[in-house]
Amino acid sequence: MRALKQAIWVVILFLLIAGVALVLLTLARSRPQDVPWTPLDLGQPIGAFTGRKLAGLGEDFGQCQALLTRAGVRYDRLAPVTRQDQCGYSNGVRFMPGGARTIGFSPALGTACPVAAGLALWEWNIVQPEGQKHFGSRVARIEHFGSYSCRRMYGRSSGDWSEHARANAVDIAAFVLADGRRISVLNDWEGEGEKPAFLRAVRDGACRLFATVLSPEYNAAHRDHLHLDQAARGEMGWRACR
Ligand SMILES: [Zn+2]
Repeated sequence: MRALKQAIWVVILFLLIAGVALVLLTLARSRPQDVPWTPLDLGQPIGAFTGRKLAGLGEDFGQCQALLTRAGVRYDRLAPVTRQDQCGYSNGVRFMPGGARTIGFSPALGTACPVAAGLALWEWNIVQPEGQKHFGSRVARIEHFGSYSCRRMYGRSSGDWSEHARANAVDIAAFVLADGRRISVLNDWEGEGEKPAFLRAVRDGACRLFATVLSPEYNAAHRDHLHLDQAARGEMGWRACR
């Protein structure tokens, strides 16, 4: 009798494990962007683990470049910047016109590859759809304050180094629509209407793609830009969306 009970429990346990495995495998096949172990593909919709996979690209320049190329993004590799301190990078790319991306950056933008991959996904999945939704127009250009800058956080003389010190961040200042309208973080963040709604939507969308997103809601230092970076904090590291 006791052996029978034990056998029944073993069967139940086996069925439970098989059931869970089946659910996970089905999920991995139908929505690979929502499970942590599938490889990143920039052609997939944004999923629960897309942001972590992007930040996890880190210094794997080869894999990151392959992802951009496969997604049809045109880019140039930047010459490595090597220094004795915490600054510099060896995984920089500069967006080139044409290809699968249609938004121009003003001025021309070079960043660490994981930031570039995040920006491509942001354009396709967030910025252009939100532009259509709020203005019925394509976003033609993004104005920014740059990426690489050898400095500590907030330009202080001590403390943690900024992700900008490794080109692993970008500061987004404004969006220019195909019809010429301009939406800037400095002028249009506050208030009601389509422009503030658009800015909040692209900020929220960026939080699904970047390890750190800081907006005017965070502090006065960010009143005129959205800071986006791909800080590597490990598979389960914290993410900031402020
Ligand atoms: Zn920044």
